[in-house]
Amino acid sequence: MNNIPTEPKYSISSAANLLGISVHTMRMYEKEGLIIPFKKESNQRLYSDNDLERIRCIRQTINKDKINIEGIRRVLSLIPCWAIVKCSAEDKESCEAYNGHLKPCWMINHENNYCAGRDCRECEVYQSFGNCESIKNKLKELLD
Ligand code: SF4
Repeated sequence: MNNIPTEPKYSISSAANLLGISVHTMRMYEKEGLIIPFKKESNQRLYSDNDLERIRCIRQTINKDKINIEGIRRVLSLIPCWAIVKCSAEDKESCEAYNGHLKPCWMINHENNYCAGRDCRECEVYQSFGNCESIKNKLKELLD
């Protein structure tokens, strides 16, 4: 985790302005599963400073490291979520997140397992892999 504020406060157009990208690109990152915005009851999307940092990391990975969106999604699919949330062996063995490598766990439709109905945006798995620094720190924590 990091200390960047997680309170959702920016509309999609304000967030896009702050990042210097288009609203269309923001929507694409959401559709591709790289970001989960906060959604109000009206379905309006809001973004926090932490969300902005996540998107900066995505932009850096695409523009500097030359990894495309599909590549990022596959890297995120390798997050060992089962070791973080400590779901049961039974849940793990039947879970697409454990068995697959195409999309992150929060993009999978979970039914009848530990993650069914959980709020992925608030989950330690999603939050821990939110920016370039925290990804490495979390992996060190898991592997040390
Ligand atoms: S709650 Fe969502 S983000 Fe957390 S481990 Fe389950 S699917 Fe992944």
